[in-house]
Amino acid sequence: MQELSHFIDGARVAGQSGRFADVYNPATGEVQARVPLASAAELAAAVAGARAAQPGWAATNPQRRARVLMEFVRLLNRDMDKLAEALSREHGKTLPDARGDVQRGLEVVEFCIGAPHLLKGEYTDGAGPGIDIYSMRQPLGVVAGITPFNFPAMIPMWKFAPAIACGNAFILKPSERDPSVPLMLAELMAEAGLPDGILQVVNGDKAAVDAILDHPEIMAIGFVGSTPIAQYIYAKGCAAGKRVQCFGGAKNHMIIMPDADMDQAADALVGAGYGAAGERCMAISVAVPVGEKTADALVEKLIPRIEKLKVGPYTAGDDVDYGPLVTGAARDRVLGLIGSGVAQGAELVVDGRDFRLQGYEDGFFVGPSLFDRVTPEMDIYRQEIFGPVLSQVRAASYDEALGLAMDHEYGNGTAIFTRDGDTARDFASRINIGMVGINVPIPVPLAYHTFGGWKKSGFGDLNQHGPDAFRFYTRTKTVTARWPSGLKEGGEFHFKAMD
Ligand code: NAD
Repeated sequence: MQELSHFIDGARVAGQSGRFADVYNPATGEVQARVPLASAAELAAAVAGARAAQPGWAATNPQRRARVLMEFVRLLNRDMDKLAEALSREHGKTLPDARGDVQRGLEVVEFCIGAPHLLKGEYTDGAGPGIDIYSMRQPLGVVAGITPFNFPAMIPMWKFAPAIACGNAFILKPSERDPSVPLMLAELMAEAGLPDGILQVVNGDKAAVDAILDHPEIMAIGFVGSTPIAQYIYAKGCAAGKRVQCFGGAKNHMIIMPDADMDQAADALVGAGYGAAGERCMAISVAVPVGEKTADALVEKLIPRIEKLKVGPYTAGDDVDYGPLVTGAARDRVLGLIGSGVAQGAELVVDGRDFRLQGYEDGFFVGPSLFDRVTPEMDIYRQEIFGPVLSQVRAASYDEALGLAMDHEYGNGTAIFTRDGDTARDFASRINIGMVGINVPIPVPLAYHTFGGWKKSGFGDLNQHGPDAFRFYTRTKTVTARWPSGLKEGGEFHFKAMD
C-alpha cells in the first residue's frame, strides 16, 4: 500500500511517529494509502526549518516573490488534470468539480501576484516640522494553516499563497482524509522556485494541531473546518497570543419569493444542494419558499430534477453529477440524520438511503434526498448535514423567511431568488450572514473580494483571500522620522502637539 509522507525543507520526508491514518478511495471503499500523523517533535522540526528560511524570503523583494507564484500558476495549469485526478481519487468529487477546486485556488494565487502593490505602505510627508511618518507591512514570521477535507486544493492555496506572498514561511496541516494534493502543491511550489523551508506540509491529526497551537514560534493560524474545532482552535490560539482566524460550518438558506422564476430556482437548488454530494460549506441545505403555492410549485419542479441526477464514481464520465461521501463514517452520519428527520416528523419526499451502484457496492454513496415540511426544532434543520440532503421549510411571509435565516446559529452564506429589486435590496441589507446571493445560489466571491461567514461560521475579525488576507498575514510598523534640520529645541518632556 502507498505510504504518504510530509514535505519538509524541500523534500518528501517519511513519518517518524509510527502513527498513520487510512486514506480511502470513497468510490470503492478501499484503503488506497496511509498518511503519517506527525508528532509534536516532527512539527517542531518543520517549524525550525521554516524559521531558518523565513528571514531570507522576507528579504527577497516582493516582485521576485510574486514571480515564484507566477511560475506556480503555470505549473498548476500544466498539471491540472493530474491534480484533479488525485483529488477525485481521495475525495470522491467529480473531475470537473476537482478542476474547479484547483481553479478557485489558482485564482487566489493570481491575486497574490499583486503582492508588490498590496504591500505598499502609507506615507505622510511633513507631519510636523521636518517630520515624516510612514507605515509598512511586515510579515509575521512562521504562520500555519489547518485545512478541511472538502477543498483539498483550493483552501490550502487560499492560506499559503497570501502568507508566502507577504514574506512568511508557512506550515500547512491538511486534512488527513485527502492529503495527496497538498503534497503535490508543495512540490510544485518548490519547482516554481520557492526556497526550501518556506512551505512545509505536516500531515497529522489532533496531535499535530495541538503542537501547532502550543508552538511559541508560530505567530498566526488560519483554520477552516467544522465549528466545534474552529471554536477550540480560536480560543486556544488566542489565549496563546497568536493571531487566529477560524472559519466553521454552515446551514445556508435559499429564500424563494413567489415572483421568482421557478425553473431557475429549482435548477439552482439542485446544483447548490446536491453538487459535490452537499460537501460544500456554501451548499444550499435549506430551501425556504414563501407561501404555500410557491412551496408546492417548487417541490413539483424539484422532484423530476432530483430523480434525474446521476450519482457515480469520478471515473464514470464528466456527466456524473456527484460522487460518494468522503468516508464510511460520513455516509453513516448522513444516513443517521435522514432517519432522525423521518422520526421527528419531516416528510421525506425523495429518499436516497437505499441507493446502490452496481460494481461499487462498498463505495460511500448516498442518493439525493429531499425533505418537505421541516421545522426549526428538528435535528436536520439545526445541524449541518454535509450530505446530499435538501430540506424545505415553508414560510408564510418574507419576514418569516428572513427571520429563519437570521435566527439560525450559522451565518456562512444565503441566497434569495426574486424578480423584485426592493425585496432583494432589503434582504442584502438586513441579513446577518457573511455572503449573500441575489438569484445566485452559491455566492462565493472571486479572489479579489474576501470570503467569510458570520455568527458560528467565522471567528476572528478578518476574512480569507482578497485584501483581508494581506492584512492578516502582515503586521503594521509605523515609523516617525525627524532629520537634524527639524531639531530646533533641546529635550522635550511633554507630548508635543503637532502644529
Ligand atoms: P474538521 O473540523 O473535521 O477538520 C478540519 C481540520 O481540523 C482538519 O485538518 C482536521 O485534521 C482537524 N481536526 C479534526 N478534528 C480535530 C480535533 N479534535 N482537534 C484538532 N484538530 C482537528 O472538518 P472537515 O470535516 O475536514 O471539513 C468539513 C467542515 O468544514 C464543514 O463543517 C464545512 O462547513 C467546513 N468548511 C467551512 C468553510 C468556510 O469557509 N466556512 C469552508 C470549507 C469547509
